[in-house]
Amino acid sequence: MAALPAPLAAEPVRPHVFDVVPLGVEGGIEEGATTAWFIAPRGGGAGLTCDAGTLVPGIRAAIDKGGFPAGTKASTVLHERIRAYLVTHPHLDHVAGLVMASPDDVAKPIFALPEVNAALAQDYFNWSAWPNMADRGKPPFLRRYGYRDLTPGVPAVRVEGTGMTVSAYPLSHGGALSTAFLIEAKGDALLCMGDTGPDAVEKSSRLGALWQAIAPLVRQRRLRAIIVETSYPNARRDEDLFGHLTPRWLNAELERLAKEVGDRSLMNGLPIVIGHIKPSIDGSDEAARTIAGELNDQPSAGVKYIIGQQGRRLGF
Ligand SMILES: [Zn+2]
Ligand SMILES: [Zn+2]
Repeated sequence: MAALPAPLAAEPVRPHVFDVVPLGVEGGIEEGATTAWFIAPRGGGAGLTCDAGTLVPGIRAAIDKGGFPAGTKASTVLHERIRAYLVTHPHLDHVAGLVMASPDDVAKPIFALPEVNAALAQDYFNWSAWPNMADRGKPPFLRRYGYRDLTPGVPAVRVEGTGMTVSAYPLSHGGALSTAFLIEAKGDALLCMGDTGPDAVEKSSRLGALWQAIAPLVRQRRLRAIIVETSYPNARRDEDLFGHLTPRWLNAELERLAKEVGDRSLMNGLPIVIGHIKPSIDGSDEAARTIAGELNDQPSAGVKYIIGQQGRRLGF
C-alpha cells in the first residue's frame, strides 16, 4: 500500500490575518453588484477596498448579511473603515461606486498604477463626467482624493491607518492595463487581482512575472489567499474572452504558479476567491453554478476555490 501523504491536520491551524468582505462580486451588468473587496487586518479595524465598482449598496448588503457587525452605519464603514482605495483598472464596473459615493466620502488616497490614476483624472473626475473630487487633471481640485501612483517593482507602500502595505503588478486585460495588488500585514500577504486574461491568449508575460514574484510567498506559507476573476464558463471561446479568464484557464495559470513554487503540496488548500462572474440579465445564477462546478472539477494543485458572495465575510 502506498504511503499516505502527511495529513493536512498536521499543519497547525493558524489564526487568520485578513478579513475580506466582498462588497460586489460581479463583472457587470447590475449596478450595486460590481466588483469591490473590503480588506482589513483581522479584528474589525480600518482597511481598504480593492476596486470600488460598488460601495454603498455593497456596504448595506454586508451590514445585512453580517459582513460588518449588525447596527453598523453605512457611513461608519465608508468614512472610518475604508481608509483608501486600490483601483486595478478604470473600467466602470471597478470604479462606479467610488465616483457615486464621492460626494459623501471623506479625504483618502487612491492607490493605482500611474496610467490608471491618469485615466481616473481624465475620464471621470474631469468636471464633465463628474466634479473633480481629486487632485490632478482639470482644475479646480476638490482634493477629497489624493492620487498615489504605485510603481511596479518598488518596495511596498504603506497604506496609512490600516496597518497594511501594498505593491502593484501590471496585468494584461484584453490589451488594456490592469493590476494585481499584493497587500501585506503582519508578515503575511493577500493578492487581489484585477481583470486579466491568460498569458497565452493575451500574448503577454505578465501573469508569468506575477507568479514568479509571489512564488516565494507561497513557499514560505505567507500567501493567505488570492482574489481573482473567472468571468466566463469553459464553453466561452478564446477569441471571445476579451481579457478574462475561464475555469480552465485559471487552473492552467495556477498550474504555472505551482511550477514556480516547485513543491506542489505547498499550494494544497490555498484559498482562491472567485469574483467577476458575468451574470445573466434574467437573474439566473447558472453561470456562477457552471463556473463553480468547472473550477472544482480539477482544482489545480489542490487549491481551495471559494465563490465570493456579496456581504459575506471571509477570513484568511
Ligand atoms: Zn471588470
Ligand atoms: Zn475590465
